[in-house]
Amino acid sequence: MFRQLKSVFLFATGLFLLGAPSTVFAQNGAAQHEAAQNEAIFDPEARLVELGITLPNPQSPVANYVNGVRTGNLIFTAGKGAKFADGSELHGKVGADVTIEEGYKGARQTAINQLAVLKNMLGNLNRVVRVVKVLGMVNSDPSFGDQPAVINGFSDLIVEVFGERGRHARSAVGMASLPRGQSIEIEMIVEVTDDSDARAVSSEARQPLLMKYLGTAGWEINDGNVTVLIDPYISRLKYGGGGDPEDHRPDYARDAVAVSDTVLIDSIIKKADFILVHHGHFDHLGDVPYIARKTGAKVIGTETTMSILRAYGIPEEQLYAVGGGEDYQFEGFSVRVVPSIHSALEEKHYFDTRRFDENTPLKAPLLINQFIEGGSLMFLARFENHDVLTMGSMNFVERELEGIHPDVLLAGINGSRLGLYKYDERLLKVTGYPAVVIPSHWDNFRLPYGYSQQSGIDRNIKPFIEAAAAISPQTQVITPVHLETIIVK
Ligand SMILES: [Zn+2]
Repeated sequence: MFRQLKSVFLFATGLFLLGAPSTVFAQNGAAQHEAAQNEAIFDPEARLVELGITLPNPQSPVANYVNGVRTGNLIFTAGKGAKFADGSELHGKVGADVTIEEGYKGARQTAINQLAVLKNMLGNLNRVVRVVKVLGMVNSDPSFGDQPAVINGFSDLIVEVFGERGRHARSAVGMASLPRGQSIEIEMIVEVTDDSDARAVSSEARQPLLMKYLGTAGWEINDGNVTVLIDPYISRLKYGGGGDPEDHRPDYARDAVAVSDTVLIDSIIKKADFILVHHGHFDHLGDVPYIARKTGAKVIGTETTMSILRAYGIPEEQLYAVGGGEDYQFEGFSVRVVPSIHSALEEKHYFDTRRFDENTPLKAPLLINQFIEGGSLMFLARFENHDVLTMGSMNFVERELEGIHPDVLLAGINGSRLGLYKYDERLLKVTGYPAVVIPSHWDNFRLPYGYSQQSGIDRNIKPFIEAAAAISPQTQVITPVHLETIIVK
């Protein structure tokens, strides 16, 4: 569930933690930009879960002082030592009785103990704006000079948990002795949010949106109440050319019988309440018959889409045929159907007016090329705290989007958009410059999961990120990774 966060973390450690020189930042402007953007979704509470860290109850002060003092938006914590879960402490002089490695582990434990203090004061570590300063004291043998290597145990954990927000100024010094012969004592200063003095409101405010990228135009979105799939295409068949020579799976002709990789689907899709289908092409609808039967989800799409699902025997009560313009309220979820148009494929020569209806003779299993477009839709999917505008193509009808201002835009970002008049600019403007834009349908859907999609990132996403930065500087563009979950607060 938090793999997206993990990738952000790995990136952060690679660039920020291991002492990369500042020139790396200059050379890596785009990457740094991306990391900074992903930072907004870095959830320290989730990181603790992922790291398998359970915070202890904060140790009580052993004398006449308190664990932490807040003044304004700063918290100054009292010095803490390496007290482990079993109650033992790290004692002795580093460089004589204690090795650097033992000291490092002790410093890491000290960071956990300090996080326990912060958690107790704040209720939620998301209220930490920035770790400002760390003072690390090491009970050192007089000959020992590697105090930074010891205190890195503290700093590394803080950055693992807080990401960019955890980077701090630091002193790491040697001491002739420390209370009770402890090896380490560390204190810290953190900046916190304005609202964080109100412990009473520590019950979590907004339910985040979990958005898992399934590749192509496919998404699984969960707001804690409903699970909504968008164009869930998992099978990623090698078909109709355009595959990878390294991919030795069978190559399907367009008039071959359509198949779904049900084993793979079962491993990824566990449940769904709704399935929204933008149009009927195989890379959008191909797996929906199997997923709809498996999950019992309500499916919303065009009459063509419904006709195909009927051919597969999906019960009528699951089928919601729409034409565009509907605005439907369901339990805990509403969806506005937006009329749209398909990508301008084949250098704008693509045009397909075919439609299926109840009179069309269709017999499952269909051929791949029987998955016709059947008209195109977009959806404004309204979740508990977020409105998500979805796209299944690199095209839109501008007037149909007027007044629709989503928090999150799943933007069709593939090469064919470049054949349209000022696509990026018109799209971001008419949608009200959304806070979060996530490129969709930019990858090579004929490659299985796990294959590199770098060329799509280079060709499609990077130019879009640059364009978006100029058009809408406050917009976060998040690059999705197959099967990883993006958390939108
Ligand atoms: Zn299509």
